[in-house]
Amino acid sequence: MSATATTCPYCGVGCGVLAHVDASGATHVEGDPQHGSNLGRLCVKGAALGETVDLRGRLLHPLLRESGALPRRASWDEALDRVAQGFRRVIDAHGPDAVAFYVSGQLLTEDYYVVNKLAKGWLGTANIDTNSRLCMSSAVAGHKRAFGEDLVPGCYEDLELAELVVLIGSNTAWCHPIVYQRIARAKEARPSLQVVVIDPRHTATCELADLHLPLKPGTDVWLFNGLLAFLFRHGAMHAGFVDKHTQGFEAALAAAESDAGDPAEVARICGLQLADLLAFYRLFARHERTVSVFSQGVNQASSGTDKVNSIINCHLLTGRIGSPGMGPFSITGQPNAMGGREVGGMANMLAAHMDLDRPVHRDIVQAFWQSPHIATRPGLKAVELFEAIERGTVKAVWIMATNPVVSLPDADQVKRALARCELVVSTDIVAQTDTGAFAHVLLPALGWGEKDGTVTNSERRLSRQRAFLPAPGEARADWRIVCDVAQRMGFDRGFAFGAPHEIFDEHARLTAFRNRAPRDDAPMAARRVLDLGGLAGLDRQAYDALTPVQWPVCAAGEGTARLFGDARFAHADGRARFVATVARLPVHAPDREYPLILNTGRVRDQWHSMTRTGKSPRLGGHIPEPFIDMHPRDALLCGVREGELARIGSRWGTMVARVQHGGGILAGNAFVPIHWNDQFASDARVGSVVNPVVDPISGEPEFKHTPIRVEPF
Ligand code: SF4
Repeated sequence: MSATATTCPYCGVGCGVLAHVDASGATHVEGDPQHGSNLGRLCVKGAALGETVDLRGRLLHPLLRESGALPRRASWDEALDRVAQGFRRVIDAHGPDAVAFYVSGQLLTEDYYVVNKLAKGWLGTANIDTNSRLCMSSAVAGHKRAFGEDLVPGCYEDLELAELVVLIGSNTAWCHPIVYQRIARAKEARPSLQVVVIDPRHTATCELADLHLPLKPGTDVWLFNGLLAFLFRHGAMHAGFVDKHTQGFEAALAAAESDAGDPAEVARICGLQLADLLAFYRLFARHERTVSVFSQGVNQASSGTDKVNSIINCHLLTGRIGSPGMGPFSITGQPNAMGGREVGGMANMLAAHMDLDRPVHRDIVQAFWQSPHIATRPGLKAVELFEAIERGTVKAVWIMATNPVVSLPDADQVKRALARCELVVSTDIVAQTDTGAFAHVLLPALGWGEKDGTVTNSERRLSRQRAFLPAPGEARADWRIVCDVAQRMGFDRGFAFGAPHEIFDEHARLTAFRNRAPRDDAPMAARRVLDLGGLAGLDRQAYDALTPVQWPVCAAGEGTARLFGDARFAHADGRARFVATVARLPVHAPDREYPLILNTGRVRDQWHSMTRTGKSPRLGGHIPEPFIDMHPRDALLCGVREGELARIGSRWGTMVARVQHGGGILAGNAFVPIHWNDQFASDARVGSVVNPVVDPISGEPEFKHTPIRVEPF
């Protein structure tokens, strides 16, 4: 039985998988020992992939729904014409910004590339955003402010080389299990490795912690501004690095001193013991090889971008970046959140890490594409996009591989928006989803194991997802569906791709286009670190044989494990930027009516809205139904008991879940997982409860802080 080397479709760890199909047609998987990110290991979700690839519940044919009727089967020609004509009609009547795309970190890079190209280069709108907005856009914005480009400096090996690993807002043990296992093994082999966990909850990740700081939700900027001030006062500043390679130190320090100059006051604001706070500060000051891992607990906040920069500031102050075992490290949520960013699959970005608001970048992309348009201003980010649909300014939306009726905040607003939208197109692998119920056109896509392309994981490692199963029914690749619609809209040139390697080649060439100076030190108006020039020109055979590699990829085809070893950043002057971060609390505070703070997140064995993991009895056995984890004191005050159902309400909506204790919750707080939806249990969408406040810079929603009340059901 030969194995196909592919990549896990779940979290941003991006583990290599070997997939076998046996004579009975059953799929078996194991970790790929040749893949540098997981070295042969898989977590329980990845190990159960074989249980999720059957065709139960799959969307296998195009469907059309006419005004309220049940959907009827249609041919591809009819369905594609409906999409192309519908988009054309809306654009002709209302302009290009009346249409939008809402896509997903589940898409492969090639899919992302062509839909971004269609929107920004041919339709002339930047109204294309992605569910990656919900998980890591604050990290993107923070990277761009600090480094000049959306760059993750380090790699997983740094976690094993570090003396201190700080895990901030990350239940790594459940959400990025192979990363957690790499840290755990390193600590087992070298017990002097210190681990600090910063999280309001006492999660499974705390089992590894030498120190857990259960900080008050939303106070991270105070904590890290306090650390910056402490490091400066205690002689931990790397003055040579700061002077030669950064800008903005004085302003950042002044902001930190004014917010957080007194550790006792910081401890009070963050709800921490002063001794614990100082223990963390001293550990950070003492250990040169420090990695600060951050994830959704940092990003999903109305101050998410400032949180990111307050962490990066501490690494810039100490010069701890670009060398083995050190650096700030954003761990992304989805399998291809990074790949989507690389091809500009967000409303404020262009392909190849270029920016919509920089004319020189727009010129490069349009010159390369030879496109009739190039969007000139950022489009609508996820939350505002669905608000615009409800207002009626966006009249047609194409949703790909995501379920916003479950996953967006204020999810009932998303229902209202889709119910009044003139044209809703949904491309998905699943026949019945909460979002698909509003679609006028449902287009069947290929799923994991059937589709072919590339993804990029949290350490910039680009890997192939390869097909090892036949395309079921009439399902097609997302990139092909987009190209088919583009051609029906009259855009033959630019969308005549015949296979994924042709798209990848164009993407790779664009990253290198006008990105090479005659000499390495020559000034350039638009130098980007993302450069796949060494992978340009791959034919189908070479693309099929592509082994995982970390970008940038040099002309000889070799990857790059770490960035900034030369302390040369992506800003035009080569210097990194400190950002003066001003601490502020979450927008909505609890009050008498809504006295508890709702935090949302993942559980170990489920993924997103459970369309795949929900098929596996093994995974379902871990946690079988939606729950709310509460402190026993709060349950008593609310009149609910462990094991009973409770109604959870906010100013935005309600849901029902079973009460449980024991999740290490601070009094005044509650946790509900994001996965369950109305296909699995009624009234189970936590998205309907979550407030729609977003970070003003990144547009990322404040998923970690919604005031709620809990009542008996
Ligand atoms: Fe898949 Fe993430 Fe588990 Fe790796 S850690 S097997 S990428 S879910």
